Amino acid sequence: VNVLIIGSGGREHAIGWKLKKSKRCGTLHFAPGNGGTAVLGKNVNTINPDRVDTKTVDDIDYYCRQNDVDLVVIGPEDPLSQGLADRLAKEGRMIFGPVAAAAKLEGDKAFAKQLMKAVSIPTADARVFKEYSVAANYVQSRETPVVVKAAGLAKGKGVIVCDDNDQALDALAQCMKNKSFGDAGDTVIVEERLSGQEVSILALVDGRNIYVLDPSQDHKQANEGDTGPNTGGMGAYCPTPLVNEKLMQTIEREILVPTVDALRRDGIEYKGVLYAGLMLTAGGPKVLEYNCRFGDPETQPLMMRLKGDLLEIMIATAQGTLDEIDLSWDSRCCCCVVMASGGYPGRYNANKTIRGIDDAESDPDVKVFHAGTRKTRDEFVTSGGRVLNVCAMGKDLKEAQEKANAACAKIKFDGAWYRKDIGWRVM
Ligand code: ATP
Repeated sequence: VNVLIIGSGGREHAIGWKLKKSKRCGTLHFAPGNGGTAVLGKNVNTINPDRVDTKTVDDIDYYCRQNDVDLVVIGPEDPLSQGLADRLAKEGRMIFGPVAAAAKLEGDKAFAKQLMKAVSIPTADARVFKEYSVAANYVQSRETPVVVKAAGLAKGKGVIVCDDNDQALDALAQCMKNKSFGDAGDTVIVEERLSGQEVSILALVDGRNIYVLDPSQDHKQANEGDTGPNTGGMGAYCPTPLVNEKLMQTIEREILVPTVDALRRDGIEYKGVLYAGLMLTAGGPKVLEYNCRFGDPETQPLMMRLKGDLLEIMIATAQGTLDEIDLSWDSRCCCCVVMASGGYPGRYNANKTIRGIDDAESDPDVKVFHAGTRKTRDEFVTSGGRVLNVCAMGKDLKEAQEKANAACAKIKFDGAWYRKDIGWRVM
């Protein structure tokens, strides 16, 4: 089975690494891929998946035909929301990732809210606005803090958690007047601010069956103790003890199953990964957001711990036969620490030589996934903000974190930095 993986992050490297272990895995292709994926398979940088127009679809379709690609795995949300899964589907080609109508759960937060409200899925109380003045009046009438969210995709930046009404008014102006998030902020959601621990629950959905993966927790903020600006994610660990079996069953019954059923009633079949970002509040788990794909960096620890054949699992998800699949987990914990470029999440310089990856991986419990890297003839250099995802297995979270941090200490590039406290909330 030849596979094309769309995307360029640590998530895509981890998925490729795990697929490669399958006996049936043929050639791996990555579009566009990164320095790490260039070693696993073939990087295709003539394809730009960020904008799904006719040319992109034609390019990918042509590439798949020329290279006998049997399975296309779509990593990021943008191409999914823009309908890449729909447009690549054809006889004899499997697609891992939902169609656009299903990916709307992530791409349109107003749609997601309406769906949750319609079938009573626990989430923050919210109202949807299209006009600044109406939204501003509503905010001024509120006595408790709110969160302002641009309805569309804004690369994780369109959510503003506010302490008071002045901040909320500023956030509304940023979205609706200054257009800081472009069209994504034309519609805005103002919702009640919740508090509690956050967890990431990812499930495989094949249209009929749901298989919930082990729970994880990520760390979006740049600095230790979860302070500072938001990033794409500075680390994650799995499993998290915050979700026990009983809570997992509640989440499946009250959140995941009704979500998939509600879509199905509207004639939309969900296939791929359904990811619920939850807050564990005093009143039970509540949905903060849905994602329609594997999380990054949550996927990296999941792939480290997954036992079983990812290729078979992905094929079963695409074909609706997940119930026939054997899937289990390494009982150990995995901690993933993101090494970032100096200056990230603000401006940073690229093209810094990376040294020490082999040394870090000399520990058999350590694996380094590439994100913002590029392979030159004889070395790896940085090419993005989040550069490497250093994963380590340990008998518990403490050991996994120690090993991951020790591995990071062996890796050098100019300006490199990372958080040393991944997992602190439960340690
Ligand atoms: P991603 O980066 O995963 O794409 P996103 O932009 O879709 O994120 P959300 O996950 O909805 O945004 O929100 C980002 C963060 O904002 C959450 O992880 C959470 O910390 C905070 N947040 C969102 N909604 C609420 C809420 N109702 N109450 C408190 N905090 C919230």
